[in-house]
Amino acid sequence: MNTRLYQQKTNFTRNHTDRSNRIADDGFRCAHCHSYVYTNQIISGVVNRNHCPYCLWSRHLDLFQPGDRLAACMAIMQPIGLTFKKIHKKYGSQFGEMMLIHQCRDCGKLSINRIAADDDAQRMLEIYESSLSLQPAARQRIVESGVHLLEASDLDSVRAQLFGRRTSIVE
Ligand SMILES: [Zn+2]
Ligand SMILES: [Zn+2]
Repeated sequence: MNTRLYQQKTNFTRNHTDRSNRIADDGFRCAHCHSYVYTNQIISGVVNRNHCPYCLWSRHLDLFQPGDRLAACMAIMQPIGLTFKKIHKKYGSQFGEMMLIHQCRDCGKLSINRIAADDDAQRMLEIYESSLSLQPAARQRIVESGVHLLEASDLDSVRAQLFGRRTSIVE
């Protein structure tokens, strides 16, 4: 009889502990570098975080639009290059903020994502540099999807967006 009471008690304690120890829905563990990434806007200061700020890899979660979480794929998405967001104006288009290009390692889907304030700028530069030597087939795929992959001639703009304006060199 005492045993029964004891079991009830321990069950209660266990359930109670489980509930209070439950981790709040405030982040995810990066599927690539395994860092813990906070998505809570108050902690991270970032709205709709969709990639890891350390290694910049993402996951294929969205189907139609950013944040819908409707994709069944769930595979990891590799940051493969940088682009400038196209802004359509009445008279032609111009380029705005810099964006990351991700490609799904499983299904090959490309997606363009906003850069967050705490993304690793040095890592971003490395992605840009490696994108300059992408295989022609991979490059062709990006072009065909309508994304303007940044070229070697964009280095100054990339640096300016990542590290602020360079001080001009007086000759
Ligand atoms: Zn990561
Ligand atoms: Zn995918």
